[in-house]
Amino acid sequence: MNNFPISGFRRDAEPEPVIDRILIADEQPRMCASLRTLLARGDREIVACGTGTEALSLLGRGDFALALVHLHLPDVSGLEILRWISDNRVSTTIMVVSGDDSFDAAIQAMRCGAVDFVRKPGDMRQIEHKVDSALRRRHLERRHAVMQARVEQSERLHRFLVENSPDLIYALDDKGCFLFVNNRFESLLGFSRDDVLGRHYSIVVDESAQELMRHVFDERRSDKRATANVEVRLRTRYGPGPRRYENRCVVAMLSAVGIYGEDTRAGGQAAPFLGTYGVARDITERKVAEETINFQAFHDHLTQLPNRRLFKDRLELAITQAYRQGNMVGVMFVDLDRFKVVNDTYGHSEGDELLKGVAATLRRCVRAGDTLARQGGDEFTILLPDLSHADDASVIGAKIVEELKTPFRVSGQEFRATASIGIAVFPRDGDNADLLLRNADIAMYQVKAGGKNAYRFFSAEMNAAYRDRLRLENDLRRAIQRCEFEIHFQPQYSVARGRIVGMEALVRWQHPEHGLLHPDGFIDLAEETGLIRSITDTVLAQACAQLAQWHAAGHAELRLAVNVSPQEFDRGDVVDRIVSQVNHHRLPADALEIEITENVLLRDATAVIEKMRHLRERGVRIAIDDFGTGYSSLNYLRRFPINSIKLDQSFVRDLDERHRTSPIVNAIVGIADGFDLKLLAEGVETDFQRQLLQELGCDEMQGYLFSQPVPAAEAARLLDA
Ligand code: C2E
Ligand code: MG
Ligand code: MG
Repeated sequence: MNNFPISGFRRDAEPEPVIDRILIADEQPRMCASLRTLLARGDREIVACGTGTEALSLLGRGDFALALVHLHLPDVSGLEILRWISDNRVSTTIMVVSGDDSFDAAIQAMRCGAVDFVRKPGDMRQIEHKVDSALRRRHLERRHAVMQARVEQSERLHRFLVENSPDLIYALDDKGCFLFVNNRFESLLGFSRDDVLGRHYSIVVDESAQELMRHVFDERRSDKRATANVEVRLRTRYGPGPRRYENRCVVAMLSAVGIYGEDTRAGGQAAPFLGTYGVARDITERKVAEETINFQAFHDHLTQLPNRRLFKDRLELAITQAYRQGNMVGVMFVDLDRFKVVNDTYGHSEGDELLKGVAATLRRCVRAGDTLARQGGDEFTILLPDLSHADDASVIGAKIVEELKTPFRVSGQEFRATASIGIAVFPRDGDNADLLLRNADIAMYQVKAGGKNAYRFFSAEMNAAYRDRLRLENDLRRAIQRCEFEIHFQPQYSVARGRIVGMEALVRWQHPEHGLLHPDGFIDLAEETGLIRSITDTVLAQACAQLAQWHAAGHAELRLAVNVSPQEFDRGDVVDRIVSQVNHHRLPADALEIEITENVLLRDATAVIEKMRHLRERGVRIAIDDFGTGYSSLNYLRRFPINSIKLDQSFVRDLDERHRTSPIVNAIVGIADGFDLKLLAEGVETDFQRQLLQELGCDEMQGYLFSQPVPAAEAARLLDA
């Protein structure tokens, strides 16, 4: 930026002197005296001297308004004084007095800068008159000079402000051609004055803003309202550069006003339109920042996909349009299966990479006009606007399932991600965004419940199931507060010893309306909602208390089996919660056996093994429940520190008169033997099964043949029998 142009800028010019000083230089004291008398006024100060030298030294101070100088002074001539005055730029007005009335003398004096010439002795009145008018003229001139200086100063200041303005400032004529532009046009847009003066404004307006600008300009012709804060894109003459919007545009905020001639409306005519002038401020950076913020507010950081806000917005828009045109809109809810395992096992950065990979795959599966969004976590949604047929959505669903079969490579490892997909269609499954999303979500849950890795359309029955689920969840919360749970015990028999060696604690829910509920009806929900924690604690506490009573009553070797959900092994404190119950009831630790299903393997194996090991170190026993139905592998039997396996009842059920042998049961008996694990058969209902299992080498059994799960009092009777 240039320096400020007016260093000594003052708002008021120098004040006029109040007193006029007049110098009389004349050899004759009498002449001096009479002139003094003649010219004396209240606003004048008169000084007299008799020589040229004196006169020069007095004038040298520069504060005399006027000097009456005799041409013939004894030492320095009047003409020399005049020359000195001119050489030294002294501003005093000089009048020459002379007895010499030659025309030449007068001419010479005037040439040398005297304003007037008076003859001595002459007419004194004339002298007085000439002095008065010379002083008056001098005053006028001075005032004029001051005004002139002020105008110039002001001009310079305004020019400076306009030229150095950070904003574009311009004026257009009535045709829209540039009359004036400030320097900013060149520094911001690259257009010099010559480029634009006389040319139409449209040469600096971007294509996208031409229509708008035409409107703004035309409005000025008819209307005196000022245009304020119109956002316009201006074209630049520059190539790509960091400051350029989209590399070629500047976004400016424009304020413009019309210029009109004299208002002749009184004569029935409107004021003539002369043109416009205005200011445009560069807001490119703000604009870019705004757009970045805007993008962040509506997109997901990790995948750069639209986020749930933007998705909902687009969905609402699509519904409105579909409503008008009678179309369908599809909403897909995509949830990755077992993503948590990846995150827990391999770490969050691998999890993030996998999510990015999945996002890319999903993007490949959708069409150009569809919106793929990340709802958060491992959930994605897809908007299919303008569906002509509901089945079109299943094409995309199938494609996603198919595409996800290709494993992802993350940090040198292969990951396989499958997804559960729920689909809801407008208007069939809902008439608003929330409902469609919820129903797609419900459908997705059905896929999860039904074995995952597939897609499914929402149906009304699902909704009923969903409502039931919600109600059950509320009931479950209440049940926890009101302690509506009780424990039934099912004996575990040793056939060889002919007696009960253990009891399995099985939870029951005494529902106020539905009566006694079995765990199959609520454990899954408790696991999903996290309510399982309270249930585990209740069961552990009640069952351990009961076992302590039985121990005290003489059944000192009785074992107690308690089922613990795999989910519990995600928690850091599961070991402490179990051990503290054993300690609280002073039970020998090996009297307690924790039953875990093989699903525990779907979790972070290292962490689970660690916890199992801690339990074992404290003496607590561990059994694998429903063995043979899940992800059984010999490998994990080797790695997991377990004591026993429970042969699942489905294998036992298969044993009957016609199937006297079962390769699976044989194998499992062999495995238990080989790994030195205790084996217990579940669901033994018939004598035949008991006998057969015994022959196959299984000693411990549990099932209706011996007893159903029963309340504690009845279990006590069985023990005492
Ligand atoms: P589970 O641990 O395998 O328990 C055995 C299930 O088989 C019990 O069902 C039991 O009543 C049933 N059963 C026992 N003998 C026979 C038989 O001879 N024939 C037939 N058909 N069934 C028999 P229940 O009590 O309904 O429990 C179901 C599952 O709920 C249990 O399977 C267990 O996995 C889970 N569960 C029970 N209590 C709890 C608990 O306190 N916490 C957790 N997390 N899960 C529990
Ligand atoms: Mg069990
Ligand atoms: Mg079982």
